[in-house]
Amino acid sequence: MMRIGFIGLGNMGAPMAANLARAGHDVAGFDTAAIEIDGVTRVDTAQAAATDREAVITMLPDGPILESVYRQIVPAARAGAVLIDCSTVDVDSARAAHRLAGETGLLSVDAPVSGGIGGATAGTLTFMVGGSPAAYDAAVPLLEILGQRRVHCGDAGAGQAAKICNNMLLGISMIGTCEAFALGEKLGLSAQRLYEVISTSSGSCWSVNTYCPVPGVGPSSPADDGYAPGFAAGLMLKDLGLSQQAAEQVDAATPLGAHAQALYRRFVERGGAGKDFSAMLPDLAAAAREHSDD
Ligand code: NAD
Repeated sequence: MMRIGFIGLGNMGAPMAANLARAGHDVAGFDTAAIEIDGVTRVDTAQAAATDREAVITMLPDGPILESVYRQIVPAARAGAVLIDCSTVDVDSARAAHRLAGETGLLSVDAPVSGGIGGATAGTLTFMVGGSPAAYDAAVPLLEILGQRRVHCGDAGAGQAAKICNNMLLGISMIGTCEAFALGEKLGLSAQRLYEVISTSSGSCWSVNTYCPVPGVGPSSPADDGYAPGFAAGLMLKDLGLSQQAAEQVDAATPLGAHAQALYRRFVERGGAGKDFSAMLPDLAAAAREHSDD
């Protein structure tokens, strides 16, 4: 049994903390909102969640909040503890958090996830991990409970870098998938037949084969549930924004990433924030060509 602190008990953090408690660990949880989780001891401050804990996991909304929480927990954490940040944040904030942890000799990893609320609940998340080999080794026993796969991507910030590259591609591929099915429909094609062709041809990708945005076509997906998330369009817009912020900083050309960000921004501004990101399909299908690029 390990003594674990867990900070940020929202849609993702709550089921993750519950899984650690269910695995027999002693979990102290803190969130600024009043959230109760079976098996998790609620504490009143971030410091209290970090005090005398062998590991502290954070699952927070953004980089500035992460840095402010690290400023509170680093002085409170005991020597030898490992800090595991599973939030999706910008690479600079992730590196700043590592630096804060390093100042007192704590081990730290950035370990953003793929898999969403379903993966957090089922304990099947994939972790993209950045940090020293020693920090990675210290984090693995807990990541094994929370997920099925992990990749040690490199040093501090490498997990966040991998996450935003993956999600930029996902945003682009989902829009491409929606465009193909919207065009197919207007050409009089059956969506089922088009799925059978693309999913076994060179256009196949996760957005088509596993998460098809057409209701009733392909494996079960949010499209079959009225586009309830899943992975909300607002979160996709966040990740596309992080990818463009990073691309700007390192002067990388990402024209399709920038276009995907613009399209998701428009979708979110028109009320799509809380819908699954695959709900781009009905939006595109309803659009006429002269409006498809504005
Ligand atoms: P959420 O908004 O449901 O949860 C965040 C929690 O952090 C909230 O409960 C909030 O009260 C708490 N919080 C905010 N400031 C705090 C502070 N200073 N101290 C303690 N708690 C604080 O968000 P979520 O969906 O659980 O996502 C968490 C992170 O995981 C985000 O970075 C998100 O981008 C990432 N993520 C989410 C998904 C998903 O499908 N929801 C998938 C992959 C990654």
